[in-house]
Amino acid sequence: GLGMADDPGGPSLVGPPEGLGKTDGHKYAHGHALMLSGGVGRGGAARMAARAALRVGAGLVTLGCPPAAVIENAAQLNAIMLRPVADAEALSEMLSDDPRLSAVGLGPGLGTGDATRALVGAVLKARRPTVLDADALSVFADDPETLFGDLHPGCVLTPHGGEFARLFPDIAGRLAATPESGPAMSRIDAATEAAARAGCVVLLKGPDTVIAAPDGTVRVHAGRYGRAAPWLATAGTGDVLTGLIAGLLARGLAPGRAAATAAWLHVEAARRVGPGLIAEDLPEVLPAVLGGLG
Ligand code: AMP
Ligand code: MG
Repeated sequence: GLGMADDPGGPSLVGPPEGLGKTDGHKYAHGHALMLSGGVGRGGAARMAARAALRVGAGLVTLGCPPAAVIENAAQLNAIMLRPVADAEALSEMLSDDPRLSAVGLGPGLGTGDATRALVGAVLKARRPTVLDADALSVFADDPETLFGDLHPGCVLTPHGGEFARLFPDIAGRLAATPESGPAMSRIDAATEAAARAGCVVLLKGPDTVIAAPDGTVRVHAGRYGRAAPWLATAGTGDVLTGLIAGLLARGLAPGRAAATAAWLHVEAARRVGPGLIAEDLPEVLPAVLGGLG
């Protein structure tokens, strides 16, 4: 084994979550997640994320998209609500007008222009539990300090290896052994350093997923030595993970727990589908995964 679960202050292995399947009360008691979508022809990622947020138990999910993409999105949504969000200013207004929007997810399909930077700024200023992924991370490649300055403890960053290297180039550079830098740093240590620097939870994706919090707490979802689902390496699966985290944050889970629980559910859903999986299968098998929990 990895010899980690026994180490008292060290990393713990992510196992099945408790108490997730049992919900009662009004839909408003289960939180309202907002997923932001890209423009025309680029909404698929956020739609899948929104569906995952709803399936994982957020009481309400709204997809926010540029006005030009409303018709396209409306044709593909039913239980998910739709709101036009023209720009960062409109987003700020929407968040301050509705304190019941209990979590936000953004990044997938958003594009890497200044508009995305402005949206991220508006969301972070609202200080809601927030998951930042994909373009919401990559857009800060040239000046990650700007992003770090706005992040708060309610945030979760979900970089894959490439996105991680863009935000934390010096840390990522130590992941490989070189004659100059010496032995390779572990992904656990890399994620831990990144979380301390960002001041929020960092979920580093890969065959093994590392979830590190700024207080040094580390959780590992061991794929290669535990619950493997190699067919997750396909388009859009990361976007579904973002939606799962947004949904769990909306339900009120703390960021570290939301991220670890999402990672576990993601892999269990993938294992249920098996080879041939495509990303949109994942939200559809969540009821079966959740139904098997105590
Ligand atoms: P993304 O790169 O954002 O699309 O996210 C890909 C998702 O698939 C993440 O949740 C990864 O942890 C997962 N993943 C990628 N490669 C593998 C692999 N070889 N085995 C298991 N999971 C993987
Ligand atoms: Mg991705």
